Amino acid sequence: PEGERIAKAIARAGIASRRDAEAMIAEGRVTLNGAVLDSPAVNVTEADRITVDGEPLPARERTRLWLFHKPRGLVTTARDPEGRQTVFETLPEDLPRVVAVGRLDINTEGLLLLTNDGGLAKVIAHPDTGWLRRYRVRAHGDTTQAELDRLRKGVTIDGMEYGAIEASLDRVQGDNLWLTLGLREGKNREVKRILEHLGLSVNRLIRLSFGPFQLGDLEPGLVEEVRTKVLKEQL
Ligand code: URA
Repeated sequence: PEGERIAKAIARAGIASRRDAEAMIAEGRVTLNGAVLDSPAVNVTEADRITVDGEPLPARERTRLWLFHKPRGLVTTARDPEGRQTVFETLPEDLPRVVAVGRLDINTEGLLLLTNDGGLAKVIAHPDTGWLRRYRVRAHGDTTQAELDRLRKGVTIDGMEYGAIEASLDRVQGDNLWLTLGLREGKNREVKRILEHLGLSVNRLIRLSFGPFQLGDLEPGLVEEVRTKVLKEQL
């Protein structure tokens, strides 16, 4: 069916969660094209007129995207059952409600994209989009460039298939190696698992870029909005 569930449209406008929107409909507080709704089982499009408590739903916000330099120690979930600090708790107060594009592990640093458009976040993070993610990695252990080159064919670990990975051995620092990795998917703990498979233990992981967007010299903890013109060129 065309459009989306009305509760979803209300949630996207930032009025209420989807569940609360359904409750508002049940309470008779929502109209669709002039008639009070009594069921949330209806799809709407941009062309439909919706009111909540007599107020028209605000127009859909334009899509915005931010670069965030995630420091270590923050989780990327909206709410952490263990009470650890989340990325979202650290963002500037004037930022609208945003979601993250995929996730970075608690100890991973670097570029995390944030957007006010949940649909866009899903598209960008989807494996079919295949955007390159580049990481700088510090790992304990030994390997060779020849061994790393074999990752180009992809690798299967414990039944999980990982796609092609470009990896280069940049330098040795004491007992650690610094590597640069490029991959086009974002499976759970992917970089750590793949390097562990080679006998390397990752102790620093920094995402440098995600598709066309670069961490650059953005300071840890800071956000920077992608200019609308750039966004239009890239999406
Ligand atoms: N790979 C990982 O292992 N962790 C991340 O946070 C990102 C990629």
